[in-house]
Amino acid sequence: MKKLALFWAIFALAAAAWAEQPKVPIELLEGKTILVFTPHPDDELFGAGGTITLLNRHHNRVFLVIYTNDDKGSYDLEMSSQRLARIRKGEEEGAEGVLGTPKENLEWMGYDDGMLEYAPQPKLVEDTTAIIRHIRPDVLLSIDPGELYARWHKTDHRMAAFNTLDAVRAADFWLYFPNQLLEQNLQPYQVPEMYLYYSTEREANYWVNIDSVMDLKLEAASKHVSQFEPAIHKYRPDWDPQVLAQVKAEMRRRQPKKDGHFVEPFRYATGFNQM
Ligand SMILES: [Zn+2]
Repeated sequence: MKKLALFWAIFALAAAAWAEQPKVPIELLEGKTILVFTPHPDDELFGAGGTITLLNRHHNRVFLVIYTNDDKGSYDLEMSSQRLARIRKGEEEGAEGVLGTPKENLEWMGYDDGMLEYAPQPKLVEDTTAIIRHIRPDVLLSIDPGELYARWHKTDHRMAAFNTLDAVRAADFWLYFPNQLLEQNLQPYQVPEMYLYYSTEREANYWVNIDSVMDLKLEAASKHVSQFEPAIHKYRPDWDPQVLAQVKAEMRRRQPKKDGHFVEPFRYATGFNQM
């Protein structure tokens, strides 16, 4: 019986950590350090690009870690992985530039597209832990491992979602990868707040109004030329203006809305589930 009571107490605590609301909303933060993880060079834009723009506008220091180089998604038979990785890197730097994130704040982990789940996992989580201990973010953004979403999604999305949160946990306890402290003086670090993007409607518990930056988000998306037609079939560095207008209209239509406003949904969390 006692055990059962303890179980429910822990369960309630864990649930509370995931349901809590921020003391200072992310859209009002100023002068903070923000660390964003993305599986591919574009997910952070589609999931949280408006929010990243607001964070940059409000003089926060935004750092972005990109797990994979996105070097597979082209139907062009004359494309090579190396070339595609270079193209995607340039596009991502352009897109993040529109959102206000400086190029030097982008860190590429360099894994191949589609292969993150098969990367050596101890190394993956160790490297990610080191990044968190080094940047020491006030707020961390990453892809939501939500039970409704990650299960069905792409390999890199699943892996990035789980790996980032595993690293958040490891960063807190110095005995995970102790050489980081002993050899690099990377102190353990507890991430205070997390906003997880790509949350489903049922799992989101926080929404950022992005009305004021919606056009910029679309402008940033337009930098990802190679991800869309016609460049995805036969690479060319520019858009057909008509196609671009259609793509922007479709993105605007698909952007989540709440109470008549464009929003980005998140799962806000202050801790990880200990159970
Ligand atoms: Zn992706």
